[in-house]
Amino acid sequence: MANCESLARQLGLKAVLIKDEGRNPTGSLKDRPSALLVIKAREAGARIITTASSGNAGGALAGVCASVGMKSVIFVPSSIPRAKLTQLQVYGSVVVAVEGSYDQTVELCMKAGRHFGWYQRSTGYNPYTREGKKTAALEIAEQLNWRPPDKVFVPMGDGNIASGIWKGFRDLMALGFIERSPRLIGVQAEGTSSIVDAVNGDGVVRESSGSTIAGGINVTRANDPTMAVRAIRESSGFGVKVSDEEIRTAILGLARSSGVFAEPAAAAAFAGLVKSCEAGLVKDGETVLVLITGTGLKDIEAPGKRLSEPLRVAPDLNELERRLGDEGIRR
Ligand SMILES: *Cc1c(COP(=O)(O)O)cnc(C)c1O
Repeated sequence: MANCESLARQLGLKAVLIKDEGRNPTGSLKDRPSALLVIKAREAGARIITTASSGNAGGALAGVCASVGMKSVIFVPSSIPRAKLTQLQVYGSVVVAVEGSYDQTVELCMKAGRHFGWYQRSTGYNPYTREGKKTAALEIAEQLNWRPPDKVFVPMGDGNIASGIWKGFRDLMALGFIERSPRLIGVQAEGTSSIVDAVNGDGVVRESSGSTIAGGINVTRANDPTMAVRAIRESSGFGVKVSDEEIRTAILGLARSSGVFAEPAAAAAFAGLVKSCEAGLVKDGETVLVLITGTGLKDIEAPGKRLSEPLRVAPDLNELERRLGDEGIRR
């Protein structure tokens, strides 16, 4: 976890903590639930474990399965970034690329799981994913010497990370490890904002109709939304929606101020923090934590045209000096 002083100054806050889950073995927070789920599958005597995924849950499951010699069948939408697909293939899973949305991918995986009798890991179906995800909250509290931040910003797709984080803090309160829990701020993309809309509205989750560049949260029919709504409300938090443009800006803003390269779904949480500060929803002097759920190396197309071209030069010092001079770079 990094305490990012320049971001705190920029946003006028006491501290901005970046919890970089991109450093997990397969590059996302999903290593936590997948590690637990493989143990549970073995306890149940399963031979094959399956999941639907937008890439990270599958990558994590494939990696953990490879490490213990278990077979996995991973269902992903065929449109996922190349790096996420390659990761599944490298680990030796049977990869099913479904020509359809994430929601349709979940549906097919559930049907196949029942039909073939495989152990089902999918988010929203298997209750242990929340137990795995909550370990991020346990670790946050431990790393901060049992003095948790005022607010935690979490991206939401199915909503399972959000309710997992809340469960972690609640467990710690019940056990007397911490005295108060942070407020949970759930962030979604404008096109897929069913949980945020429910939090800000009547509490009922309705299917959303849009989409987002942020693969990990591109979910129109969330698979575990009700507990997320409850988690945000019980923690006295709130929901924020961010646009794809704000997410792109956040990828670069976060990387250039903290050194952490986040994938779009993770950068959405940071975009949510920036937006909440601008809207006066975070007070000066607060300590906030942003949960960066996955690494940007899994989706390198996302920053897109925001990146300037590298200087292409002949292997020649004079040319280099001239070109650097054009950019205002001198000794
Ligand atoms: C899975 C995922 C999310 C969303 O988690 P949910 O439990 O579906 O809400 C956010 N960011 C990344 C990088 C993810 O892989």
